[in-house]
Amino acid sequence: MFKKIKGQDKAIDILQRALVQGKVANSYLFYGPEGVGKLTTALYLGMAMNCHSTINKRPCGICPSCKKFLSFSHPDLIYIFPFPKETGKSDITIDGEIRSEKTLQEYEDYINNKIKTPWKEYFFSKNTGIRIASIRMLEHRIQLSPNEGNYKICIIENAGKMTIQAANAFLKTLEEPPEDTIIILTTSKPNSLLPTIISRCQQLQFHSVPKSMIEEKLLDYETLEIFEAKMLARISNGNMEKALRLMESGKIEIRDQALQFLNFVINNNDLKFIEFSNLFRTSKNLTKLQEMISQLIIWLSDIAYYKHQQTEITNLDKTEILETLYEKNPNIEDYAPELINFMEEMLQRLNGHVNPQLVVIEIYNRFKDIFCK
Ligand SMILES: [Zn+2]
Repeated sequence: MFKKIKGQDKAIDILQRALVQGKVANSYLFYGPEGVGKLTTALYLGMAMNCHSTINKRPCGICPSCKKFLSFSHPDLIYIFPFPKETGKSDITIDGEIRSEKTLQEYEDYINNKIKTPWKEYFFSKNTGIRIASIRMLEHRIQLSPNEGNYKICIIENAGKMTIQAANAFLKTLEEPPEDTIIILTTSKPNSLLPTIISRCQQLQFHSVPKSMIEEKLLDYETLEIFEAKMLARISNGNMEKALRLMESGKIEIRDQALQFLNFVINNNDLKFIEFSNLFRTSKNLTKLQEMISQLIIWLSDIAYYKHQQTEITNLDKTEILETLYEKNPNIEDYAPELINFMEEMLQRLNGHVNPQLVVIEIYNRFKDIFCK
């Protein structure tokens, strides 16, 4: 099953060797960018430790124990993640019971989402955190012996969201975890953890998934064309979950917007462009704008590849537009790196407090300078 996790060969290799040699550590920290498989790897490690299959086949994914892990319902799996706080109530009892009905509903929805569509983001209704009540529950449960499995597996997802009190309490747990317990922390922000927590864990780094692997994975879905897979692999920037998310949600729509933009440039259609730019007057459509800019970056590299490296082109089905743009400025190969830097700068700028409409106008002017001289 570990083979299903793409682009993390080094981390997986270390874990598989530890499993075969019986040298799995008591506590791990999986850190690295979002959407690259940290939680899945943690779950598979827990499954492997309790799997009924022969050692080389663990985790098998089909034995009763593995199945319970895959549905997050194994009694020896203690899964902790940030969730909202109910005012005036303790979040979760020592036995793991959530008293507020609304929080319980969201808590269950979150886990269901992880089971069915793990690439989708789940948004809680309020700010979330890992608070001391969750750590107390964890402490209590790891003192009991395993129910069915050989090992109790504690996964703390987004461990950097522990409050200070929770982190301090957790540090004590980490000092002397019971022998039959494996604790796995995941985070994309290792700096948000106490250094004393980090130093007590075996650290495994996860990396962005290579574009080619994302592309390959996406092409497993029959509904996808090659150019779409290429495009999503580029936009998602090494984040497999994001690629899958975009695949589900109107990938073509984003490309159409970029195409529209390019047509305004080619046809010198300033009036229409201004109308279009009104879409971005507020930050309501900020995500769309960011995706459109990422798209335009791909178009720029396509134009630059157009003459000499056609195999690198993403928008293979739209060569006539590439040709038009190329003919407008055959020196584009020389401009492309600088222009791409500029676009990336614009993306950065959108993370701050800027007016998105001004950003899109600035981009438009720059494109006109280059393609409509
Ligand atoms: Zn199994």
